[in-house]
Amino acid sequence: MNPELSYHRIEKVNTYKVRSHFPRLVGKNAFRNEHAYGDEFVVKEIFTDRGASGWGLASGLFYHQDMEEDQKILGKKVSDVFDDAAGIREDTLSTFDFALHDLAGNILGIPCYRMFGDGGVHAVPVYDTLIYFDDISPDRNPGGIARILQECQDGYDYGYRAFKLKIGRAPLWMPLREGDKRDVEVTRAVREHFPDCEIMVDANDAYTVERMQAYVDAVADVGLYWIEEPFRENEQDFRRLREHLDKRSPRTLIADGETNPDMELLIHLYKEGLLGVFQMDIQGDHTLGHAFGLTPWRRVMPRLREIGARISPHAWGLKLKTHYAAQFCAGYPGVACVEGVTDTTEGVDFSGYKLREGKMYLPEKPGFGMDFIWGMPITGGDCESKTICRQV
Ligand SMILES: [Mg+2]
Repeated sequence: MNPELSYHRIEKVNTYKVRSHFPRLVGKNAFRNEHAYGDEFVVKEIFTDRGASGWGLASGLFYHQDMEEDQKILGKKVSDVFDDAAGIREDTLSTFDFALHDLAGNILGIPCYRMFGDGGVHAVPVYDTLIYFDDISPDRNPGGIARILQECQDGYDYGYRAFKLKIGRAPLWMPLREGDKRDVEVTRAVREHFPDCEIMVDANDAYTVERMQAYVDAVADVGLYWIEEPFRENEQDFRRLREHLDKRSPRTLIADGETNPDMELLIHLYKEGLLGVFQMDIQGDHTLGHAFGLTPWRRVMPRLREIGARISPHAWGLKLKTHYAAQFCAGYPGVACVEGVTDTTEGVDFSGYKLREGKMYLPEKPGFGMDFIWGMPITGGDCESKTICRQV
């Protein structure tokens, strides 16, 4: 640990609500209805007695925030709660994980990716993750396959050179035969229109092995980069799919780990040559089992590095998370491609990050290199339990 962190004592924590806006309505996926036009989230801003500050996305949902969490770090030396070589000292500090990394980067005068090892590529490959079932969504105005191609074109114009398509329209939104057929048609249409781009697909566990094998047969010449969450991960089914891929589409990887990750199982699957990309979430929440987090990623990285793992931290939801994941992946070797969320985030200056020709260029500024300009202050005044109310 850098001794500089012990010279700073945390004297103030501010909490804000911030809103983000997608460029359009983001539609259905295999298990969830429309994803709306954007999101609301909470950020924490930390100040020290020596004038340093840092900010970052808090863990959990807006209405789960508990102001008493701030007491866990107030009055403490930064070194009591954070180690630049490892991250937050306790999992219970997960809500401050990004803010403490940013603060430490500012104190030490280094970008976060250097804290993570500076062993990766600095222009990080990213993919457009905003391509949902907008051919069948929303119900009142579905756009057909033309809508999806337009969305890909918008992503291409924005700077992406890789697209992740959602598949798994059946059984929830379409009958089996029709839904699986549409998944194939969409995949093939995007390949035809964007021959120079990588394509990944994400089934959100909606497929069976047999249906996925049939899908692979129908898109074998597409050259998919990866298939994400084809079904709930397990050795037997992954082996059957992997063997099928080896015959029909050998370059295609299997990606998994965003939902309730079992690290020992995932590492085992990777060692067996079945899993191809680790995808635990970059945002943690110690109260939720399915989340993962930045410090847990740092903790597991030596093991992943040892087995030469490819990674792509799950960053769905916010461009902020894309930037955190990009910083993390610039630190470690082995990035596959970072999940790119396109949004406008109120009150945050993202201008240090540049997306060009499919790659994210990171700022050389300390910390995460994003400036927090304004957020809606959260007071929690009306809430007796000190848990913030929905309406604040
Ligand atoms: Mg996914």
